Amino acid sequence: MTNGRGAGRFAEKVVFVTGAGSGIGRAAAVAFAAEGADVVVTGLDEEGNAETQRLAAVHGGQVLSLLCDVTSGEDVASALGQTIETFGRLDIAFNNAGIEQPPAPLAEINDADWDRILDVDLRGVFLCMKHEIPLLRASGGGAIVNTSSGAGTIGFRGQAAYAAAKHAVIGLTRSAALDYAGEGIRINAVCPGIVETPMMGRFSGGTPEGRERVIAQEPVGRMGRPEEIASAVLWLCSDLGAFTTGHAMVVDGGQTVGR
Ligand code: NAD
Repeated sequence: MTNGRGAGRFAEKVVFVTGAGSGIGRAAAVAFAAEGADVVVTGLDEEGNAETQRLAAVHGGQVLSLLCDVTSGEDVASALGQTIETFGRLDIAFNNAGIEQPPAPLAEINDADWDRILDVDLRGVFLCMKHEIPLLRASGGGAIVNTSSGAGTIGFRGQAAYAAAKHAVIGLTRSAALDYAGEGIRINAVCPGIVETPMMGRFSGGTPEGRERVIAQEPVGRMGRPEEIASAVLWLCSDLGAFTTGHAMVVDGGQTVGR
């Protein structure tokens, strides 16, 4: 089945996005739709998903909105099953759902927080790729981008669990990229810096002082916009990125460059 919209870098492509009800996932879902794709908006936030669906549908393609918890293999398999039922194929997946860590030095991280962060930020990416790859194979190839973080490339004080999960996402991405490079499936990661999203609002406390504190980490002197991460994700998934696989693309306003 095709969407018949012809033009655009992602015309006739079907794109599956996790954590699409807000922030970076929403920006990517809308950007893919704006470039011709049919999009599957998934996440835990029903209202947020519906708003993303509305914003993406403005561009004329079909947009499916589904509740899907990435920590549940059953949820992930079911959402991908509905993707195939609706669109008949899968071409691109953006495994982006994630949660932040309440800041704490390692010995003060409680076990439940550790388990939850690793479950969503790492195991969720594994489960998504595990169920997406057979579908990409059936489509004759495709592209996956997983959301890591600047905290996937360097350590951050008070962020051991989050950084461990995000470092592991890069290891998972690189290894899976090698597993499937010969089958036309490219697998990359994106590593955002400080980006203005609901997550960053929670992390900074949302106060002017909290914002200043996080912006102080950014050599460019501002937060990134979710659309600026989405544009890197789209490049990685597009034909312009056809020779790029196993790469962890840092998009962070220079946050990690001098560290
Ligand atoms: P966000 O909180 O707006 O988005 C995260 C989304 O994931 C939310 O819609 C949330 O409902 C969803 N989600 C959470 N748990 C889920 C689960 N179990 N199953 C499915 N969906 C779930 O924050 P964001 O900043 O847009 O974050 C997107 C990704 O970017 C995350 O992986 C985050 O770790 C990463 N990231 C963000 C920043 C930043 O500065 N904002 C920096 C580096 C990395």
